[in-house]
Amino acid sequence: MKLLVILLFSGLTTVCGGNSSHSLPPKLLLVSFDGFRADYLQNYEFPHLQNFIKEGVLVEHVKNVFITKTFPNHYSIVTGLYEESHGIVANSMYDVITKKHFSDFDDKDPFWWNEAVPIWVTNQLQKNRSSAAAMWPGTDVPIHNTTPSYFMNYSSSVSFEERLNNITTWLMNSNPPVTFATLYWEEPDASGHKYGPEDKENMYRVLKEVDNLIGELVHKLKVLGLWENLNVIITSDHGMTQCSKDRLINLDLCIDRSSYTLIDLTPVAAILPKINTTEVYNKLKVCNPHMNVYLKEDIPARFHYQHNDRIQPVILVADEGWTIVLNKSLPKLGDHGYDNSLSSMHPFLAAHGPAFHKGYKHSTINSVDIYPMMCHILGLQPHPNNGTFGHTKCLLVDQWCINLPEAIGIVIGALLVLTTLTCLIIIMQNRLSVPRPFSRLQLQEDDDDPLIE
Ligand SMILES: [Zn+2]
Repeated sequence: MKLLVILLFSGLTTVCGGNSSHSLPPKLLLVSFDGFRADYLQNYEFPHLQNFIKEGVLVEHVKNVFITKTFPNHYSIVTGLYEESHGIVANSMYDVITKKHFSDFDDKDPFWWNEAVPIWVTNQLQKNRSSAAAMWPGTDVPIHNTTPSYFMNYSSSVSFEERLNNITTWLMNSNPPVTFATLYWEEPDASGHKYGPEDKENMYRVLKEVDNLIGELVHKLKVLGLWENLNVIITSDHGMTQCSKDRLINLDLCIDRSSYTLIDLTPVAAILPKINTTEVYNKLKVCNPHMNVYLKEDIPARFHYQHNDRIQPVILVADEGWTIVLNKSLPKLGDHGYDNSLSSMHPFLAAHGPAFHKGYKHSTINSVDIYPMMCHILGLQPHPNNGTFGHTKCLLVDQWCINLPEAIGIVIGALLVLTTLTCLIIIMQNRLSVPRPFSRLQLQEDDDDPLIE
């Protein structure tokens, strides 16, 4: 009984448990390993990452946003917005009004980024706080005239070690202190494209390297004394799926190139018609059964991918593993960008630190939910967003969260306590009352009367 009460009490305190006194301002490091597909965690070994998870939390699947490409998804993580709302709708974009172009190699114009306010800008604008970034997409652009106090211009040739060194230096020796930092790494995306996720041998090697980098990160944070007070989120932008030369969709077989401008190609093609839009649409509609063709106004609502000038009048969405090409061979063995309801497109999320529970596993959240959670951890007022803070409450120590197993445990515990108390009361009452001697049941006179006269 005593044990039961203790268990029940400790269960309740675990559930409601608050984050006790922390005099230091909360700090958060957000890390992305590009293209880290969620089920790599089940299919490969990650000793360092598993150690990190053991002392923290894991979200097995993060449902990301459509289109499942790098720039759009990294911006959704830090703004909590769908692509139509933050304006980074693809890795390659064209704005019809200003006639501006955006690509992986030409991404520095704030025009593209200013439709939203990323968390590093909000954090940077607080009194006595600053932000730092090692190559997260957009962090080297003055968004709303603000960059992080410390950032690196993007270059894929800079080593992980150098990026990590910078981040830890900034986290330790800055005034005002760096309270929000980001770190970005190109793998396992680059190798996922090159080999395809079904190439077990190469992916094993690459994922082992990624795990070693996570080991280095944790080791460095521990050596520098940052580990205990720093919140660290490790996540990714999207997954990866296998492509094949046997799954090509050749647009040249269906439509003349002179009738449209191609803004983006695969697996979501963005088509700007030069002639009548309906004519272009009708030709593409019957082009290939492994591709959905949408007029902008008919794009399914679940994609949240319609209300932005940068989304072109016709978009083509290839089925998983299919590649849209212009009369040429397969460009990559692995790709992403497909429908965001496909689990192969989902990344994971792991987190560790004073804000997070230890040893807690959660099945799924949306990538747009990460932003309100990060704002909560840092005590920042979030901008309007598409995320739901409630989805991440179970990950956080200072939040009341009921998940099903805990709720069942509490109900069963409470019932057991009540039953035991009732039994005790009955036993005590029986003991206190004087036992009556057995007496024969006396029938009253009326009872002998016949029921029917
Ligand atoms: Zn990516």
